[in-house]
Amino acid sequence: MINSLEFAIDLDRHDPLAHFRDEFVIDDPDTIYLEGNSLGRLPKRTADRVRDAVDHEWGQRLIRGWGEGWFTAPQRVGAKIAQLIGAQTDQVIVCDSTSVNIFKLAMAALRARPGRHTIVTDDLNFPTDVYVLQGVAQLLGAEYRLEIIHSEDGLIVSNDAIARAINTDTALVELTHTAFKSGYVYDMRAITEAAHRSGALVLWDLCHSVGAMPLALDECGVDLAVGCTYKYLNGGPGSPAFLYVHKDLQSQLLSPIWGWFGQKNQFEMEPNYQPVSGITRFLAGTPTMLSLAAVEPSVELILEAGIERLREKSVQQTEYLIALWEEMLKPLGVKLNSPRDANHRGSHVSLGHPEGLRIGRALIEEMKVIPDFRYPDNIRLGIAPLYTSYAHIYEGITRLRRVIAERLYEKYPTTRPEVT
Ligand SMILES: *Cc1c(COP(=O)(O)O)cnc(C)c1O
Repeated sequence: MINSLEFAIDLDRHDPLAHFRDEFVIDDPDTIYLEGNSLGRLPKRTADRVRDAVDHEWGQRLIRGWGEGWFTAPQRVGAKIAQLIGAQTDQVIVCDSTSVNIFKLAMAALRARPGRHTIVTDDLNFPTDVYVLQGVAQLLGAEYRLEIIHSEDGLIVSNDAIARAINTDTALVELTHTAFKSGYVYDMRAITEAAHRSGALVLWDLCHSVGAMPLALDECGVDLAVGCTYKYLNGGPGSPAFLYVHKDLQSQLLSPIWGWFGQKNQFEMEPNYQPVSGITRFLAGTPTMLSLAAVEPSVELILEAGIERLREKSVQQTEYLIALWEEMLKPLGVKLNSPRDANHRGSHVSLGHPEGLRIGRALIEEMKVIPDFRYPDNIRLGIAPLYTSYAHIYEGITRLRRVIAERLYEKYPTTRPEVT
């Protein structure tokens, strides 16, 4: 019977990836963490690595560290992330934040498509993506515009709707590959092809995809991509993001930030900017070494587990969660705000309830369950297949059911907290 803890424990017993949970710092085994899609857990080896970066590399080696691995870290870690996203090496580099990288690549793309003035995106996109694109259009001039496709149901936007919005004025199509609210996964190949048919470039935001599913950027002919490293890649709060530029485009595109880390023969300290060839031209300034050090061990851990196997487990776990929702929560009026089809679903599931905000609060404060909340009604449950167990999914849904059935949320205020 699916609706029992014994069933969940049995699934864990047969899970070939279960032992990876031991790789993580787990302070309280009874806390059910369903936020790996927002901030991944701390791997034990990362804690060791960061300690070494502080005590040995900085504390003892001092500035010699730049010659002992720091200087080449953006490319080295980028090459490891490349393996997770289906990219040949020399196309990925780690730097800056996702927001800044969207700005750099969107500006570069628009300048490479003179005469075209439209950026296409949709309203399932993450806010920062939309804001940055609005800023880019504003900077480039009055003839530039951002077209935001409207999702009919708030869950998906069809390939057709996107293809219809692309025309000969489209310079760039920018979308988030796994939508942050619904978890809808776009058809990367079809949309990339539609953009190319009209002569536009595409920029994919991989924040909610990287580390949760295999990607095939090269194979799909993707031009540009960005992603963060603190969600499924477990790089820690504010760890640097990455960017991807297809090899064939690298020499045609120019970062709008002409920093010395993108300069040819950087240490000649020439007075005029001359971009270095290759992906390195998209760097701006000095890498944030301590947080960059935290990214590498976790990416290695994911490569060890195997991204195909992680995706397999993630699909099984979201299917399991949805089956539990159907039995235990749907009768209480909870909606499923994520796609039913696993091929179009990422590694989180959103459940809708008009009291979602207060339910989330009761879960955190009384139930030791940590989900998050996204307006208007989404209780987001993130599954990180590296460390989320079936037993925790079962327990999390059971405690969620209790909060709703016993109306435990009613004592909390309906006002919005600063962070949700
Ligand atoms: C998390 C996330 C971001 C975050 O951007 P930062 O610059 O790191 O704050 C951007 N885009 C998407 C789709 C995200 O999920």
